[in-house]
Amino acid sequence: MIVFKYAEPLARYIQQQKNAGKQIGFVPTLGALHNGHIALIDQSKQATAVTVCSIFVNPTQFNNASDYQLYPNTIEQDIVKLEAAGCDVLFLPSIAEMYPQGTTNLEHYDLGYLETLLEGKYRPGHFQGVCQVMYRLLTMVQPHQLFMGQKDYQQCMVVARLLLLMQSPTQLITCPTLREPDGLAMSSRNMRLLPEDRQNAITIYRCLTLIKQECNKGVFWPVIKEKAEKMLTDAGFRIDYVELADAKTLQPATATLATIYQGPRVVLIAAFMHDVRLIDNMLV
Ligand code: AMP
Repeated sequence: MIVFKYAEPLARYIQQQKNAGKQIGFVPTLGALHNGHIALIDQSKQATAVTVCSIFVNPTQFNNASDYQLYPNTIEQDIVKLEAAGCDVLFLPSIAEMYPQGTTNLEHYDLGYLETLLEGKYRPGHFQGVCQVMYRLLTMVQPHQLFMGQKDYQQCMVVARLLLLMQSPTQLITCPTLREPDGLAMSSRNMRLLPEDRQNAITIYRCLTLIKQECNKGVFWPVIKEKAEKMLTDAGFRIDYVELADAKTLQPATATLATIYQGPRVVLIAAFMHDVRLIDNMLV
């Protein structure tokens, strides 16, 4: 695996590969890699000739200073995992390389209602920060295919919108969520959970599964939601949201007593276990 710290030699290398007719796959990450990330590398390796992974803890997407400071850094293990997975290129830029003009007075991206609901509502500025870094990374790497996880459902929608705004030819591939054997979605933040909290954290998955079953039985959404919220708070969670949304638009998609909602839906949960914020979702 070749490691680049600077964008210019990275872009030059990628151009050489493209000139040789090779397809480029890209997996952007914040590091602290787990098997969910490695599944994205695997998908990229299957679909493309050169897989580029980036590790960059992007300061502008953290709306909470302590979440940024406490974000795990396991770079040595990450490199070992990427090598073992057969990743071809690792891009490991500094903040100065990504934000040479600093992190203030930045471009604003028109994300419309997408940044006013769910993660957008509870993490103000988060998706603008995601777009800041993704715009820069996509411009540097210019991949044919971009691999991202369904675990960050709304982020995939935001990046799809950014690709449109950029008129980028890059194809976004959304990959399924990898879970621990007990159902907990793999996340770099899981390693910050205390052992007892880790046990309780599976309640998010249990809720998603229960919600899916009850929705498919046609149970009235407010009844399901109340039950799910009680399960989460009983397990020690502080809830940001439990929402049922249209899978294509993310607009609320709750059937009334009189109507049955048509079309695919997704249930999304965000909740804190002490100071660790976890998110997960499931198609219904
Ligand atoms: P992160 O490092 O958390 O920004 O994640 C980097 C990429 O990995 C994003 O596209 C995530 O959606 C994806 N990802 C994170 N966790 C998982 C998971 N459990 N399964 C599949 N993809 C994931």
